[in-house]
Amino acid sequence: MTEVADVAIVGAGVVGCAIARDLARHGLAVTVIERAADVGEGTSKANTAILHTGFDTVPGSLESRLVSRGHHLCAAYAEEVGIAVEPTGALLVAWDDEQEAALPGLVEKARANGYDAAQCIDAAEVRRREPHLGPGARSGIEVPGESIIDPWSLTLALATEAVRANAALRLGSSVEGIEEGDDEHVLVLSDGRLRARWVINAAGLFSDRVDRMFGHDGFTVTPRRGQLIVFDKLARGLVSRILLPVPTERSKGVLVSPTVWGNVLVGPTAEDLEDRGDTATTEAGIAELMRAGRAILPPLLDEEVTATYAGLRAATADRDYQIRLHATQRYVCAGGIRSTGLTGSLAIAEHVADLLRSAGVVLDPRGDLGPPPSMPALGEAQRRPYQRADLIERDPEFGRLLCHCERATVGEVRDACRSEVPATDLAGVRRRTRAMNGRCQGFYCGAEVVALTAAETGRSVGELTRVDR
Ligand SMILES: Cc1cc2nc3c(=O)[nH]c(=O)nc-3n(C[C@H](O)[C@H](O)[C@H](O)COP(=O)(O)OP(=O)(O)OC[C@H]3O[C@@H](n4cnc5c(N)ncnc54)[C@H](O)[C@@H]3O)c2cc1C
Repeated sequence: MTEVADVAIVGAGVVGCAIARDLARHGLAVTVIERAADVGEGTSKANTAILHTGFDTVPGSLESRLVSRGHHLCAAYAEEVGIAVEPTGALLVAWDDEQEAALPGLVEKARANGYDAAQCIDAAEVRRREPHLGPGARSGIEVPGESIIDPWSLTLALATEAVRANAALRLGSSVEGIEEGDDEHVLVLSDGRLRARWVINAAGLFSDRVDRMFGHDGFTVTPRRGQLIVFDKLARGLVSRILLPVPTERSKGVLVSPTVWGNVLVGPTAEDLEDRGDTATTEAGIAELMRAGRAILPPLLDEEVTATYAGLRAATADRDYQIRLHATQRYVCAGGIRSTGLTGSLAIAEHVADLLRSAGVVLDPRGDLGPPPSMPALGEAQRRPYQRADLIERDPEFGRLLCHCERATVGEVRDACRSEVPATDLAGVRRRTRAMNGRCQGFYCGAEVVALTAAETGRSVGELTRVDR
């Protein structure tokens, strides 16, 4: 309690980590408070992993502006730090008269969003580009700028840079209340108290609750669940681009997309729930996705399913990001970042920094930050450590495969547990290395990955493998 942070950020998802990185690199003393045991454990870990152009956002909205800017920032950042990105492009396909009639309007909307590269193509062209599409595919829109990205490494890279710039990461700590003060606030945490001059709310699904701690009542988050199916890598040859449906008022609809790891995704569903923690997949949800997948890309259903998962969007009634400066309270809300926050994250951070500047906070770029972090190469199109003779010569542990499905090595798992934002459990190891994420889901390598993680983290095998019921 003796030290006062310049800024306390609630939430270490992709948004909180992007803001922490930006502010810490501008000389502020930042503390990030995260309820979970790792960064990126909320919505940021379970999405569709697309770097959106923002072509279909609501023109004039804050989301439109920040997604379009974030797209460029994120692509450049991924390149700089070595995060897997593939500029596959997307094909939005119409399947009936009504959808076909909507296409010109969507191209107009893209233009209104500042995206000029979207163009209508006829049914023959659609099929030439994606020959495995189901019967009934009509004309479509090509959106060349849409890309796929490794979402986990993005949050990790941002957190790593924040920590390098002296941000403190307080994991396993929940903000339970805020005592507002004239010069500084006191955050009441599950494990103590923290003094901070400014508070930034990046609490995702709980951002409305944190907002209420400051006495505001401007929005309510409704968790909108999206279930997804991950198909085996043998399916990857069936699709070159992200296959988008014509969006509805409520959601972007079910898509089929390659992943940077060489799998194919089908999803997400869009189900409004009450429980902000219900990330279960359901029989009905998976059946819906199977039906949709069969219609879009019939041969996909002959391939095996590797995994299923679900994430929760922080949906709000007015369908825009809820970013607000409350200067007199020294509080910024960066909540309700619904279905595009991965793409928007770096632009959201830039925007929050501008809001702080407008309130008189001094932000000077620090000159002593050193080179950017170099993130592990995990993408199928990247050169992985097991393929690099130079690396193996220096450190033979990069030549010892631990997970044969995903070709993750002993060296990578070891380094993930020793990194600046280390993995402390199996989920963290999986996100940082791909180990246990392949077609056998750890059936063959699980025991060895657990043993190595236990040795590196000092945790017992029982602790690491305990399943809470
Ligand atoms: C199915 C699905 C598909 C999506 N697809 C895409 C996509 O393709 N492209 C894209 O750009 N975006 C996509 N998104 C959206 C994107 O994932 C989110 O917008 C983004 O991850 C939101 O990040 P966040 O940091 O705001 O929230 P989160 O990642 O949820 O982080 C908030 C953090 O705050 C913590 N927290 C909450 N309350 C407290 C408290 N009181 N004390 C301490 N910590 C607290 C939580 O534990 C959590 O870790 C998708 C989302 C879903 C669900």
